[in-house]
Amino acid sequence: MKPFFYKEPILRWFEQNEARMETISDRIWEFAEIKFEEAQSSSLLADTLETSGFSVERGIAGMPTAFLAQWSNGAGPIIALLGEYDALPGLGNALSPSYEPNGKNGHGCGHNLLGVGSMAAALSLKETMIQTGVCGTIRYYGCPAEEGGSAKVFMVRDGYFKDIDAIVR
Ligand SMILES: [Zn+2]
Repeated sequence: MKPFFYKEPILRWFEQNEARMETISDRIWEFAEIKFEEAQSSSLLADTLETSGFSVERGIAGMPTAFLAQWSNGAGPIIALLGEYDALPGLGNALSPSYEPNGKNGHGCGHNLLGVGSMAAALSLKETMIQTGVCGTIRYYGCPAEEGGSAKVFMVRDGYFKDIDAIVR
């Protein structure tokens, strides 16, 4: 198996979907929803994955804005990708280096990019697996409250990470 063989379909997917992913990231940036209140952000990501053929379980581990999206094309490793999308209170969205916090909610460390980046990885991997015939399962864990909410701990408690072979964040 030559890893570089799989670079082509992934790069092609990114060329074709770059603008769409950017738009989704910008919308999550504008939603700027803080921990456990990421209703619009999590829906946008879950809907996008669902439209792309993933089966989606919403509100997992007792958290309305947590979800699990999964796609499989047969027996093989289960690869998990983690995505976050919560903003921080009080920062506002900085648009220049001289920006001063404005007291609103905002994306301080770019969870709009983290959530969409992991989703883009999941979607491009799915297309690559279809095109190359590599089999396995891809999971995207929609993780709320990365900023001090410990959402992933509740997912672990409820057994959502029990059967996976690898996690990439
Ligand atoms: Zn952060």
